[in-house]
Amino acid sequence: MKIICIGQNYLEHIAELNSAVPEQPVFFCKPDTALLIKNRPFFIPDFTQEVHYETELVLRICKVGKNIEARFADTYYDACTLGFDFTARDLQRDCRKAGLPWEICKSFDNSAAIGNFIPKEKFRQGMQDLHFEMRKNGETVQTGHTARMLFSIPEIISHISKFFTLRTGDYIFTGTPPGVGKVSIGDRLEAFLEGEEVLRCAIK
Ligand code: MG
Repeated sequence: MKIICIGQNYLEHIAELNSAVPEQPVFFCKPDTALLIKNRPFFIPDFTQEVHYETELVLRICKVGKNIEARFADTYYDACTLGFDFTARDLQRDCRKAGLPWEICKSFDNSAAIGNFIPKEKFRQGMQDLHFEMRKNGETVQTGHTARMLFSIPEIISHISKFFTLRTGDYIFTGTPPGVGKVSIGDRLEAFLEGEEVLRCAIK
């Protein structure tokens, strides 16, 4: 199982991090040890002073695929949920400055929280018309609408599968909308997909 994460897929988030708008989807991977499931708490690691939440739509891959054409991409996932792409923002700034890879800031243990999956058939309006929201300590801090993605889900799957064979059980994080921010010990995060709570996480 692998976890593939798209970066910089919502223009307003690109602006808040002062990044350049990519011409192709940008992605990175997290190992299976990054997975945080069953609404387990997230423990802030001691190597960072600034962990950010990034609330993202997550797809579950349901069959093997390579060089997938965008028009067939929707048949390669069967369900979606929300996830937190926990990011050590301080280490990420250092990595960027030095032109180094992102693994230490993005792919550490428990950095990929994943909620309860909902079959995609449930979303009759289509996958590019999903609204989601994240509340920190009861207050809405992030809202997302998949129509605002820079690269659509089929474009993402097609692009990733040029480089990596997708397999059943892989996950794709599709990028964060704006509103990312720091977590502190004692925070409670709750994420809602089309109004339904699919993920919660206590920060410890
Ligand atoms: Mg992200």
